[in-house]
Amino acid sequence: MEVFRDVAGLRQYITKHRTNLNSLGLVPTMGALHQGHIKLIQASRKENDITVCSIYVNPTQFNSQSDLTNYPRTLDQDIALLEKEGCDVLFAPQNEEMYPETPVLQFHFGKLEKTMEGKFRNGHFNGVGIIVSKFLNIVAPDRAYFGQKDIQQFFIVKQLVKDLSFPVELRMIPTLREPDGLALSSRNLRLTPAFRKKAPLMYKALIEAGTLLKKQKSVEEIKTFVKELFLDDKDFKLEYFEVADGNSLGIIDDTPKKGEVFLCIAAYLGEVRLIDNISIIL
Ligand code: AMP
Repeated sequence: MEVFRDVAGLRQYITKHRTNLNSLGLVPTMGALHQGHIKLIQASRKENDITVCSIYVNPTQFNSQSDLTNYPRTLDQDIALLEKEGCDVLFAPQNEEMYPETPVLQFHFGKLEKTMEGKFRNGHFNGVGIIVSKFLNIVAPDRAYFGQKDIQQFFIVKQLVKDLSFPVELRMIPTLREPDGLALSSRNLRLTPAFRKKAPLMYKALIEAGTLLKKQKSVEEIKTFVKELFLDDKDFKLEYFEVADGNSLGIIDDTPKKGEVFLCIAAYLGEVRLIDNISIIL
């Protein structure tokens, strides 16, 4: 695997290896790689001749300094995992390389950024918009791979690609879970063993909420049910639980009758913020 820390080196590699006859897939990550990330790498390798993985803990998408400081960084282990998976290129820049100066450009995503992650993480999607645009411009992939785990991020990137006419196909890869249902996440590394045992409540809440939705319970009733579930454990602080439209990710307040919805949840478990979602077809 080729490892680049600078944009110029990566661009040179891509110019040299890219032809009309081959295709390139990009997998953007923040590192501390787990098998969920690896599913994205595998999906890219299946569809493309060259797979580029980026590892960059992007400061502009963090709204909490302590979250940024405490974000796990395991580069040597990540490189070994990527080598094993046959990833072709790793791009792992430093902050000075990505942001020689503070960007002036600002992204606004309208309704999409006013709910859920956008509402609770001020400026988060502006940072996502900037870094994803940079990577799409630098790497110019045919396809880019994102996880359903960050469903709102996927919709934000879809909007970005549409509005700015990036010539890239987006792929959404289903969430990989631990046997007890907990969605794999780099932040799980920060859970103490006692909190790790409690963490599957996130998925349990989503599954039970899904069952209630299928029984035509109202969104209000389901929200109350989820709130109470989390009130039972003082180590959790529920941030939001929402039912969102499968096409627009717009928040649904009435009882949905037909089609796809996403049930989305975010909660603090101690100091660690966890998010998850599931898709339900009605
Ligand atoms: P991150 O490093 O957390 O920014 O994640 C990089 C990419 O991997 C994002 O597109 C995530 O949605 C995706 N991802 C994270 N966790 C999982 C998982 N458990 N299953 C599938 N994809 C994931």
